[in-house]
Amino acid sequence: MNLKIGVGKYDVTGPCAELGFMGYWDFAQKGLGIHSRLYSRAFVFEDLSNGKSAAIVCADILACTQSVHQAVIKKLKEHYGDVYTEKNVLISGTHTHSGPGGYSHYFIYNASIFGFNEQNFQCIVEGIFQSIVNAHANKRKGKILIAKGDVEDCGSLRSMPAYENNFPDGEGPYDPPEFREMMLLKFVDENGVGMGSLNWFAVHPTNMGQKNKLISGDNKDYASYLFEREKAVVSAFANSCCGDVSPNMKYGVPDGIHDFERTVEFGEKQFLKAVELFDGAAEELEGNIDYRQTFVNMDQCMIDGTDKRTWPAAMGYGMTPGSSEDSEGVPVWPEGTTRGDVEEDPDLKRQALSRILPVFFGIVWPPSLSEDYIEGHAEKPILAPLGLVKINGIPLVPSIMPLQLIKIGSLIVIAHPGEMTTMVGRRMRETILDVFKNDDVTHAVVATFSGAYSSYTTTREEYAKQHYEGASTLYGPWTFDAYEQEDRRLACAMRDGGDVDVGPQPPDLSEDQFTLQTPVLFDDVPWDKEFGDIQKEPNPSYGRGDRVEVSFFGAHPKNNLKTENTFFTVEKQRSDQWEIVYTDNYFSTILRWKRKGIANSIVTIEWDIPSDQAAGVYRIKYFGDYKSGWTGDIEAFSGVSREFTVS
Ligand SMILES: [Zn+2]
Repeated sequence: MNLKIGVGKYDVTGPCAELGFMGYWDFAQKGLGIHSRLYSRAFVFEDLSNGKSAAIVCADILACTQSVHQAVIKKLKEHYGDVYTEKNVLISGTHTHSGPGGYSHYFIYNASIFGFNEQNFQCIVEGIFQSIVNAHANKRKGKILIAKGDVEDCGSLRSMPAYENNFPDGEGPYDPPEFREMMLLKFVDENGVGMGSLNWFAVHPTNMGQKNKLISGDNKDYASYLFEREKAVVSAFANSCCGDVSPNMKYGVPDGIHDFERTVEFGEKQFLKAVELFDGAAEELEGNIDYRQTFVNMDQCMIDGTDKRTWPAAMGYGMTPGSSEDSEGVPVWPEGTTRGDVEEDPDLKRQALSRILPVFFGIVWPPSLSEDYIEGHAEKPILAPLGLVKINGIPLVPSIMPLQLIKIGSLIVIAHPGEMTTMVGRRMRETILDVFKNDDVTHAVVATFSGAYSSYTTTREEYAKQHYEGASTLYGPWTFDAYEQEDRRLACAMRDGGDVDVGPQPPDLSEDQFTLQTPVLFDDVPWDKEFGDIQKEPNPSYGRGDRVEVSFFGAHPKNNLKTENTFFTVEKQRSDQWEIVYTDNYFSTILRWKRKGIANSIVTIEWDIPSDQAAGVYRIKYFGDYKSGWTGDIEAFSGVSREFTVS
């Protein structure tokens, strides 16, 4: 390929205290600090032979929501005209469950976070935009190498009864049943110097469980962290069809005690495979850059030549326990509850609940559902008809879904607005590769969590079992068939050089958001203290492997997110200078925030001294910003610990 490539990265960490995390739908899981910063990583391509550009972004967020997508595209158009648009920019999330939420425009996805959060939304949008700006600015001539390999023992299927229903006559042709392949792209410049890498591998980043309250990019981010330090290039670990792939089948639901350890285990496996693929990559992608994109109304997508269709969204009973392998939800109905089960349930309490709930919801939701709609969702017993109602004028979930293919030489990247199961992924890749079977396209990968978020997509057979994933397949039993049909349409148009319909435009709901979250009113310290004073000094001396702990009278971290910056530094004395050795973006450091009284903040910094840390004299410096109760102004301050030795 005659190609220019650019890589970029930018901080999207967001507010680290008193904002709910998005992922486990747990009202109690609100941030109390930072373990690792979250980043957006961008890769841009310009095909010098046909003049077409494309961008692929992977950010440490649960999913690229429609609102984030719309806002980033708007900024890109203002900045670059028609170079980067919704057609050729693919923005995905890694699916970390330990990042602050509130950046969807749809009620259901903000519910456990108590509404929309403008500060976090702007941080994510700006960070993604800046990562593309950085990538665009350092574009240079280069080439792309591709390599693939299996990551062993790094996640297992979490809904086997649903998966096995794909193969009614036996176990199925796949051994192991998981799709373990990592596909890695290596970007090198004209001189063969590595510029970056991007890989896709399917596993839920849920090693950090719902007891965790520290911001973390989980196993995907830890893999990036290791790779970027080893190879000194930007490296994204993107997700693929992890809808039914859990890292927790081995040890059980994360207990809040071993979460770091397991994050390291699953992150390292991905890192080691990526390094091996990066070092060995030899096949060069040849061909051109191309793309097709459209919007589809998933409320009523007809499957050609059949009487099948999709329906306005509904959530099934089997969604309430959460994915019971990764978290603990409301265990009223177990995963796998079908319509038949609900109708015939001998448990009177549950029977009563299943009658009360619709009555309760009837206040905002339609008092009765049409027979067609109920039949349309087939085996799914409808707990919540999300697609039929609005709160505050806003639909509860989106229905206009973006679909997109990006061609990079012989590779097609299929963007998907949600979570796909393993089997859905296999079928989708086959469908797309089949369209191009007489062409130069030989690789296909699904980039999940891209462009919008609409929960899960299972196969028809998996749907019948109503596990968590099937109960969360919003648009009914033919959801996948609709996506497959529309993606095939895009692929055919691309192959034949034709155009595609733009489709219906998703609504812009940015003016209709509300929040029940409380802002920072003001910060305070005890009467005899100043901001930045020490609350608890570190010990005078430590050995390697020890944990240093120091606490400050601090301020609320929402006052200044310290984007592309840090809340603290660990410093080492070198003659009469202090040299920064760690920041809040190291795996060995933790920032913890605690509210004391009404407006006091205690900020604790922890540093686990690595086993190879140089001996010497160290100190820890903290940087905060307090909000004045008198003027409302925000003022910066800092504090420093006493010196301590490491030996
Ligand atoms: Zn998920």
